[in-house]
Amino acid sequence: MLNTLKGMLMTLRTSLRKPVTAQYPKEHLPLMERQVGFPALTWDADVGEPYCVGCMVCVRMCPTQCMSGTMMDNPLHAEGKSPRRKMIEEFEINLGRCILCGICVEVCNFDAIEMSHEHEISHYARDGRRSDLPVLLEMGKKYQAESNWISPAERKAALAAEKAAAVVEAPAAAAEETKDTPDSDTSAATAEETKDANAPAGEGTKAEPTEEAK
Ligand code: SF4
Ligand code: SF4
Repeated sequence: MLNTLKGMLMTLRTSLRKPVTAQYPKEHLPLMERQVGFPALTWDADVGEPYCVGCMVCVRMCPTQCMSGTMMDNPLHAEGKSPRRKMIEEFEINLGRCILCGICVEVCNFDAIEMSHEHEISHYARDGRRSDLPVLLEMGKKYQAESNWISPAERKAALAAEKAAAVVEAPAAAAEETKDTPDSDTSAATAEETKDANAPAGEGTKAEPTEEAK
């Protein structure tokens, strides 16, 4: 009987509760920062070109072989405007075949590819999501703007600054430690000596009263 009442109470409470279901696709819940969407290529705004140098490491490592690309000489490097000798000429990812494993991001040495927040890319055609270089770069730019993306140069500068600070701090801390240690020993010894010198004569060597004195 009691359990029946408890069950009815639970049903009543649930039926009066405000619904928590989002009516997708009309309603979209906010995405978390760590949301993993489809891969996108990042854009170097300082130079005005993709970070991708077309090394093809990601293409070779992709388990579903949904990526392809070609490399070319970078004209901006010849003009002294870019640090990259080579750059990507054409790039394509068939996002319909991508399994969002993130291996391409892991193997890229240039932070040129990131798992963006893009996830709503369904298409009626089987190959409808073959995304070329401009599309992938647009996705990347959007992701860079939305997230707290740090460029490789900024990351390198921050690491160098951290290392430099650690190098400066380490000897200073060691010197401070060395300075503190003998001082404290000396002061302890001095205090001990002072205590001894001020002690009344005979203190510390107090003898037990003899039988006669008693
Ligand atoms: S996330 Fe995985 S499957 Fe998708 S393109 Fe990158 S390596 Fe290929
Ligand atoms: S995204 Fe990275 S790994 Fe892939 S081709 Fe470009 S530079 Fe190479």
